[in-house]
Amino acid sequence: MSVPKNKSLLSSFLLTNEVENPNKYKHFDRIAEVTIWVAIFLVLLVSLIPFGETLRNSTTYLSSISIGVFALVWFRLLPKKISGRTKNLLFTTILSTILGVVVFFTNGIQSYALLFFYIDTVRISMSMPFKHLLISLSFIIAIICSQSFFTEGSLTTNLSLSLIHIWGILLTAFVGRLNVSEAVIAQTHQNEVRLQQEKSLSKLKDEFVYIISHELKQPMQSIEEAIKKITSEFSNTLSSDGRDLLRLTGVNNGRLNKLLNDLQDLSRIEKGSLPIQLGDVSLRPVIAEVIATSQIDAGEKRISLIQRGVEEVAATADVDRLKEILINLVGNAIKYTSEGGKVIVEASKEGKFAKVTVSDNGFGISEEDQKHLFEKFYRVESEKTKKVKGSGLGLFITKQLVEKMGGQLAFKSKLGQGTTFYFTLPRYRW
Ligand code: ADP
Repeated sequence: MSVPKNKSLLSSFLLTNEVENPNKYKHFDRIAEVTIWVAIFLVLLVSLIPFGETLRNSTTYLSSISIGVFALVWFRLLPKKISGRTKNLLFTTILSTILGVVVFFTNGIQSYALLFFYIDTVRISMSMPFKHLLISLSFIIAIICSQSFFTEGSLTTNLSLSLIHIWGILLTAFVGRLNVSEAVIAQTHQNEVRLQQEKSLSKLKDEFVYIISHELKQPMQSIEEAIKKITSEFSNTLSSDGRDLLRLTGVNNGRLNKLLNDLQDLSRIEKGSLPIQLGDVSLRPVIAEVIATSQIDAGEKRISLIQRGVEEVAATADVDRLKEILINLVGNAIKYTSEGGKVIVEASKEGKFAKVTVSDNGFGISEEDQKHLFEKFYRVESEKTKKVKGSGLGLFITKQLVEKMGGQLAFKSKLGQGTTFYFTLPRYRW
């Protein structure tokens, strides 16, 4: 719901509490219950005041007890799931009828039990939508009016008394309504301010992440070039320990490079400024290239990395982003498969789409973890995965990239048996 900040008095009266919030009525149920107990307490107190005439105290006590029992059944014994605006209206109708009977037996229009109506009016003016408020107020006014005819004494005096009460009830409803309306406006404004603050903070964070990762990339690239130069030109001058150390530095530098790329992609995705340049891409050579670059990692774990499918499939995609997607999925398949395993990549046609499948016979993913797999920074924590390094960003980014190119990413997995990720992309000239 949006409540305009500078709305008129009338519109605030009409709109308040049209807000649909599932927890609202639970809260109002509590208010109603407390109101009833406070009202019973007040009426009992008033009945103790000496009026100089015999009041029907026994009727008051009996009525208070019956209202108390009703409240107990209504609020404590009825199933909690029965709630909402209709229950509220029904409750008000039953309560007003009981109050009408109490007033009738305690001096009619002169009864101090009319106090109940005032207290309940505050509650209904705060908790009901405008239409229901009108119905409830009309019902209460009709009850008060009718009491004039059943009370001893002059009808004119009784009618005047009921008019005063009706005026009082309307005033109470109006004040209650305006108060709650002010509270709603204040809360809406506060929410807007908070939302604004959160947005600018998040923007600042995205910019910070982008700048930091951008700045870190330059020294990292220099290190990469230095490693390459040492490997190609000075490798034979190094001891075997030195070569191992150099290789390890290269691996860790590669990981740092991937992390920085992921962070840059992430902040661009969040900002909505991730550049995508669509073109016609033949899938087979792209898959072959990614497989060739992943062969070293696969070889270290003796994993067979195989490209299947002879079909010529072309898709409309951004070739660099497509490589990124494949590197993530094939990289994961290798990381989360035990030594000697198998990873298969295949492209095929599926109607108007090209479909790429990356399947492995690795660790698999439990059903519970499957629910969170595409969440940012989510990593599976198990005995097997805890040794594998990662940031939990790969699948989040991969999914965003696939969707940005008009496709879908999904997976099937069985714990201990393996995982198959597959994504679609619009086919070129289908
Ligand atoms: P990262 O690999 O950096 O942790 P990802 O977002 O790529 O982050 O993957 C999230 C999690 O999903 C990983 O931590 C891993 O546990 C699980 N996962 C991804 N791919 C596979 C796979 N092929 N087999 C088993 N688990 C996988």
